[in-house]
Amino acid sequence: MTPRLSGLHHVTAIAGDPQTNVDFYAGTLGLRLVKVTVNFDDPGTYHLYYGDGTGAPGTILTFFPWPGATKGRLGAGQVASTALSVPEGSLPFWQERIAGAVPRDSGLIFLDPDGMPLELREVAGDQRPGWTGGPIPSEHAIRGLHSVELWESRPDATRDLLERALGFSGSGARYSVGDEFSGGLIELRESPVAERGRISVGSVHHIAWRCADDASQLAWQGLMMERGLHVSPVMDRQYFRSIYFREPGGVLFEIATDAPGFAADEPQDALGRTLRLPPWLRPRLDEIRRTLEPLRSPAGVSLP
Ligand code: ZN
Repeated sequence: MTPRLSGLHHVTAIAGDPQTNVDFYAGTLGLRLVKVTVNFDDPGTYHLYYGDGTGAPGTILTFFPWPGATKGRLGAGQVASTALSVPEGSLPFWQERIAGAVPRDSGLIFLDPDGMPLELREVAGDQRPGWTGGPIPSEHAIRGLHSVELWESRPDATRDLLERALGFSGSGARYSVGDEFSGGLIELRESPVAERGRISVGSVHHIAWRCADDASQLAWQGLMMERGLHVSPVMDRQYFRSIYFREPGGVLFEIATDAPGFAADEPQDALGRTLRLPPWLRPRLDEIRRTLEPLRSPAGVSLP
């Protein structure tokens, strides 16, 4: 069986203050906060997930807030920008809503509160529903991920992996996988900065691609090993299962399953309202809760 990737699953970044992160992504951008949990490798810190109404793969942005940590530095071997899809005609709405947003091509570019580069791109025909229960009118709501821009010191090496091993098609600076509206687009640039980037607050930590199921994930694991890449074992992330490896330029790639999704441990209509822990951390709930700053709903957003 030749496995296939069907676009981006999620993008994970490092934030500073968790409340500032909630205020911006659930408030200003109007994504649904679909899960409040902890970093399983560092349970004294949050892991926040945002997406559409269900947190469908391809709509998910996730953050590890590290309050007080140093800022990251953009450079080679990094995700330089993450673009989200919005409906045609909605850019004037967003330009007025987002302080500092400036037009570029068919989109708007801006920084999140931690300085992470983001883009909203108008995409005709993207039928993904977005989150309609939030503060953004449904005709303007973000539909999901659109693309990521990678900065590489040797783009050819990354290109080779994308084309020959991961099933991407394209040429030059644009590669894609999955259907047109799956967020599976990579813009590949030779890094304008020779130095390697440093991943910390305000930078993308890794990007995850979608695979159909556990069997195809294992097939991917075998294929990446055959290419000589160091691939992680399958990790249980509670809401999906994951494997990780670095592409030749240094960007951390993950391949994640669609299942089981965010309704695995709380009802669909109450996603993201209370702290959820995986079974092995539940005995430590009281202790963990005491170490975390409580989160409020963002201003102007009433949770469903
Ligand atoms: Zn991930």
